[in-house]
Amino acid sequence: MKKILKIVLWTILALVVLAGGALGLFIYKVKNGFPVSYETDAPNITFPDNQPAILLFSKTTGFRHGESIDASKPVFADLAKKNNWFLYETESGGVFNTPQLSKFSAVVFNNSTGEVINDTQKRALEDYVKNGGTLIGIHGAGDDSHHWDWYEHNLLGAKFSHHPIKQQFQEATVTLQTVSDTILGSQLPPQYKHTDEWYVFFENPKNKGFKIIYNINGDEISPDGNMLWMKDKNFGMGKDHPVAWYNTIEKGKTFYTSIGHDSRAWKNENVVKLIENALNWGIKK
Ligand SMILES: [Zn+2]
Repeated sequence: MKKILKIVLWTILALVVLAGGALGLFIYKVKNGFPVSYETDAPNITFPDNQPAILLFSKTTGFRHGESIDASKPVFADLAKKNNWFLYETESGGVFNTPQLSKFSAVVFNNSTGEVINDTQKRALEDYVKNGGTLIGIHGAGDDSHHWDWYEHNLLGAKFSHHPIKQQFQEATVTLQTVSDTILGSQLPPQYKHTDEWYVFFENPKNKGFKIIYNINGDEISPDGNMLWMKDKNFGMGKDHPVAWYNTIEKGKTFYTSIGHDSRAWKNENVVKLIENALNWGIKK
C-alpha cells in the first residue's frame, strides 16, 4: 500500500513539473516568438503577361486560424477569376525575394502569424512596398507575434493588445467612415452587422496618419481579455474602434483589417467586397 502511494505521489509530481515546464515554454514562446524555419529557395512561378499577380501568403508560426485560412482560399480564387488576377497561393517564404516580389501587384498576409520570413526577406518586402508595392494584412496578421517594427509601423500603425476572451465572438455594427479613394470605397455598404473576434490595439492608428475605412462602436462590445497570467486587459478602444484602415508608404500602399477570425468573414459578402476593393486599390498604380 505504501509503495503504491509513493508511485502515485511521484507520478503526480512528475506531471506537475511537466505541465509547469510546458506552460513556461509556451509563455516564453508567446513573448519572444516561436522558433521557426525559413524557406529561402525561390519557387518556380510563371507569371502571365496580362494579369495582375496577387501573392496570397498564409504561413503561420504563431496562432493558426485554420478555419479562416481554409475558407478564404476558395474566396480568393473566385475573386481572382472575377477580376482576372493571377493568384499565387503559398505558405512558403521563398517567394520573398526582390525579383519575384516585383512581379506582384499586391501581397496578402492572410492570417499570417509569427515570424514567417527571415531578415533578408523582410527587407525585400519593405523595399517592395516603398517602391510601389501593396501589402494587405488580414486579422491575425495584426497580432503581436511578428516582432517586426517596420511591419507594425507601416501596416498596422498601432500595437496589438489583446482580443476579448470572456466573450470571444461578439456581433457588432460595422460602420463606414469617410473613404476618399473611389476604388477602395466602391460599393461599400455604410453599415452591416458582423460577428468576429474584435482585436484591441493600444491606440487608434488614425493618430499615426492611417485612414480608417470601417469602425465599430467599441462601447457596445465587452473587450475583456483577462485570462490566466494576462491581467489588465479589460479595456477597449472606446467608441471609435477601427476595424479596417489603410495608408500610403512612400510609393506603396498598405491595408489592414482586423476582421477575419473564422469562416463567418468569408461568408459575409460585405467583408469579401472590402477585401476585393483593397486588392483592386492595391493593384491600381
Ligand atoms: Zn483570431
